[in-house]
Amino acid sequence: MLNERHLKTERDLIGEIWQTSEIHKNMLVLADEIGSRFAGTPSEKQAQEYMVDKLKEYGYENARAVPFKYYGWRRGPATLEMTEPVKRGFEAISLAMSPGGTMEADVINLGTGSPEEFEAVGPEDVKGKIVLCSSATSPTGKRVHRRTKYGYAVKYGAVGFIFMNHNPGQLAATGSLRPSYRMGGEIPGIGVSLETGSLIQRLAGDRPLRVKFSDESEVVPDSESANIVAELPGRSDEWIVVGGHYDGHDIAQGAMDNLSGTAVTMELARVLKPYEGKFKRGIRFICFGCEEIGVTGSTSYVADHLDQMKKTAIMVNLELGGLAYTDGMKHAAFTVYQPPEMKQWIEEFLKEVAYATSITTGMSAASDHWPFVMQGVPAIYMHEEPSMRQFVQGRGWGHTTADSMDKVDSRNLQEGAMLMARLLLRLATQRKKIAKHTPLNKIVRHLERTGMRKTLEIQLKWHPESPR
Ligand SMILES: [Zn+2]
Repeated sequence: MLNERHLKTERDLIGEIWQTSEIHKNMLVLADEIGSRFAGTPSEKQAQEYMVDKLKEYGYENARAVPFKYYGWRRGPATLEMTEPVKRGFEAISLAMSPGGTMEADVINLGTGSPEEFEAVGPEDVKGKIVLCSSATSPTGKRVHRRTKYGYAVKYGAVGFIFMNHNPGQLAATGSLRPSYRMGGEIPGIGVSLETGSLIQRLAGDRPLRVKFSDESEVVPDSESANIVAELPGRSDEWIVVGGHYDGHDIAQGAMDNLSGTAVTMELARVLKPYEGKFKRGIRFICFGCEEIGVTGSTSYVADHLDQMKKTAIMVNLELGGLAYTDGMKHAAFTVYQPPEMKQWIEEFLKEVAYATSITTGMSAASDHWPFVMQGVPAIYMHEEPSMRQFVQGRGWGHTTADSMDKVDSRNLQEGAMLMARLLLRLATQRKKIAKHTPLNKIVRHLERTGMRKTLEIQLKWHPESPR
């Protein structure tokens, strides 16, 4: 696929990434010194300044923070007390975008909180109660997003929401309840660990369970965050967008989710800078803000750049952009969202670079590719798996206090960056069109057929006529 000149470029890119420890240095500053980078916290602002300064240091005069408005959220303390059948206090944390509040009500345990489990009981059994459900995979084998479970709880008239982690380790999981580019949550939500949730259920046994909880969090309308953007112009007006979100949840370092993808994005920007004006397509590196509260930064970016979507050749999303996998299994994995031809493109790429890994196809609304997908832009996703994967399932340590630097392997991040540099080099220099854009009616039909429309409606994220 690559000509002689580009093969030389490829060797230089790989050598530069492997020879320096820039990824690791950036990770140490952003995770250990700066912190979570959660929307609305001082660490978010510090991270924005650090990233812009670094990108400028790499030679990007155009590096900048592009602001956007959203519904912000401030965490307050949460308390949980069982009042019946026995009195006992427990540890709990509030879930992002919870509007806060105090209440006492009967609890209805809805297992994993899947649509099937909600539909099996119906609104009359849920109304006025507090819904308890876990993050486990549903009995039908599907992983249902927390925002869907919360959406059902609200729709069925629940007054509160308790989300129990399914992974051990006394780790309460956080996560957002509503898309912050539109709104905050309607009913308070708190998270408890597997151990706490199980104890509550054992103490209640077959008897009716009643709890009292209070949450002092609040939604802060009219907040402002920013995406960090740096541009490497090409020889045409076509652009490749590559990036991932820099914000983590406020209770953790967010090292895996998603400092890993941020550090890889910044590394790609650094090593590709000498090639400005040399490739057919330009590359726009973006570290998105506020992904953790409803994919808000990328949604705002798309809403503000609608006129450029036709010229956006592809969106490459880097979530969990390069984590260690020490058991000899796959290192990286790709997901192709649209169009289907991109799968073949990646297969050919992986064959050419002799890197065997998995490629899946499917659709998900829970990361930064999503608003681009809805505008018809071809979109792919690259992620890697954490080193101690065998200990956890599903989201694993993501969204808990355990998402920290020790879960990330910097050599593996370098490997992820090398693979992505090789991918970008091909995408940027390919003579023929990369892939076709998908018309909106085709996307809508697909989402209806696969049941995603129903899910997005429950999450209050179904608005195909406008990006936000
Ligand atoms: Zn993430």
